Amino acid sequence: MCDKHQVQQEDQGSSRRDFLRATGVAASLAFASGGFFVGSARADALTHAQRDKMTPEQIIEVMRKGNARFRKGERKDRNYLREQKASAKGQYPAAVLLSCIDSRAPAEVIMDLGIGDIFNCRVAGNVENEDILGSMEFACKLAGAKLVLVLGHTACGAVKGAIDNAELGNLTGLLARIKPAVQATSYSGERSAKNYSFVDAVARKNVEMTVAGIRKDSPVLAELEANGSIKITGAMYNLETGAVEFFG
Ligand SMILES: [Zn+2]
Repeated sequence: MCDKHQVQQEDQGSSRRDFLRATGVAASLAFASGGFFVGSARADALTHAQRDKMTPEQIIEVMRKGNARFRKGERKDRNYLREQKASAKGQYPAAVLLSCIDSRAPAEVIMDLGIGDIFNCRVAGNVENEDILGSMEFACKLAGAKLVLVLGHTACGAVKGAIDNAELGNLTGLLARIKPAVQATSYSGERSAKNYSFVDAVARKNVEMTVAGIRKDSPVLAELEANGSIKITGAMYNLETGAVEFFG
């Protein structure tokens, strides 16, 4: 939908909007302001045109503001049912995240995002492999996402396991993907899983190395970044403060 058309739709007043919404037509027209945008009281799904107009930096800013609301105990006035209906016929997510399975770090909640806003790959320790990269390539190259964000977090159990050389079934192989970050972390204090400061330093290094690994192991994503179509970066979520710190 072009901008002019959208402006005309918006100008037609609340009664028409209410009617369209009541009849379910609003969702198919996808003319609502979009749940991704701060300040919109009409929280439906992100449209194709809205997503395509956004830069990676603007998407990060939306996430930053969403996290600020989360930290204040506030939430955007969203309606999940409307978001579900508005996104059912198609999705235009702005970003693809790679985050940990940790139950305390749900990306959509801690950055106040809605249905259809982001793709989210979750695996313990937010490490990449061919399946994760394939998912990201789909998200960016085929579905148009503009941002690849690796989201690590403090007090990560997977990172602790890698530091402790924990072994258990398939977990052993997963932790092996984190161990290079343990080795690569410069730290002068106690290098143990009991030292939270060291654990968090390793988690940060793991995010940095995963970002670098994505560029190295996915020529598809590296090319998209090189031509300015996407941005690949990392962030750390602090379980204690609720703050997401973006690397860039
Ligand atoms: Zn974790």
